[in-house]
Amino acid sequence: MQTVRHSEHTLKTALISKNPELVKQYEQLDPREQRLLNEAFRPGSDLFGPITLHSPSDWIISHPEAPQDFEEFFSDLHRKSPSSGKQTIYIQCIGLLGNTRSISEEYLKWLKGYCEAFFYGLTVKLLEPIPVSATRCSFRVNDSTRNLQIHAGQILTFLKKKKPEDAFCVVGITMIDLYPRDSWNFVFGQASLTEGVGIFSFARYGADFHSSHFKGQVKQLERKSSSDYSVFDDYDLPEATSVLLLRSCKTLTHEIGHIFGLRHCQWLACLMQGSNHLEEADRRPLDLCPICLRKLQSAVGFRLRDRCKALVKWIDAESTDTPRVTPKHSREELVTLPKPVEAFKEWKEWITRCLAVLQK
Ligand SMILES: [Zn+2]
Ligand SMILES: [Zn+2]
Repeated sequence: MQTVRHSEHTLKTALISKNPELVKQYEQLDPREQRLLNEAFRPGSDLFGPITLHSPSDWIISHPEAPQDFEEFFSDLHRKSPSSGKQTIYIQCIGLLGNTRSISEEYLKWLKGYCEAFFYGLTVKLLEPIPVSATRCSFRVNDSTRNLQIHAGQILTFLKKKKPEDAFCVVGITMIDLYPRDSWNFVFGQASLTEGVGIFSFARYGADFHSSHFKGQVKQLERKSSSDYSVFDDYDLPEATSVLLLRSCKTLTHEIGHIFGLRHCQWLACLMQGSNHLEEADRRPLDLCPICLRKLQSAVGFRLRDRCKALVKWIDAESTDTPRVTPKHSREELVTLPKPVEAFKEWKEWITRCLAVLQK
């Protein structure tokens, strides 16, 4: 195992910069916020650590990119920031996220709540979920995995047309796998940063996707016409487990982070690290390192303490407080689905330690 370790000086410059204006801006932050952010370069910090590399196929080794420090982020004229009148993150669910409508609705609410805490201060709204057929996108069965895949670029075109006036961005999410073009095997997601739209799939994060008893295999694709999307009607989707929820939250916030102009992090172990495969995605933490956190804070304007509190509250909060009414003749049972947050336990302890620094 290799470690990407930077000197105290390098990390300090990446965080605070040498630009006198930005140094001044940093010094004007609440001293407790500075104390937490300074953990980035404090030797022996138990809150933030270096990036570890485990295999040659890890992202940093296989995709060399220029690092982005705070100053580069701040002075990037092309990045998008929420502006007055455009402060809403819209989530468009495509197809169901679970095997019943009620599970799907709960799952969406969990993701919405998580994004509201993560991008604290911005509004997150759910667009009315739509079936795959509503997008009119192309789809196919993957030759090797035999799962259904929808065309990512066509979904982006669809989302661009639907983008509300007050949107900072619109992100499509789906449990159906994606492909970017015929010659490609699959893609986890695709985004247009200038347009503020993205589409991300959680299909490959389900427990069974890579196993031989994966139920989403389609033997043969029979379509009566080009408008026949019936194969999606009872398509088997992964179970809404705690691990799937954690992976979905991670992917969604990482990808929305890109829409804010945050590039892949090469400073410390961080949510914004690139990832090339599932094991590497699982290894990266749920939250941002101080350098990326300062970037997001400067774009959104939240107080770190408020954001941490909101994240803890999301983990602790029950799934829903409104009693669900099941329509008559529904084949769905009345289920109360508690939010599966077991996988977030360790992270909650970590945020609580960050909160302690922010409240000292
Ligand atoms: Zn990325
Ligand atoms: Zn980072």
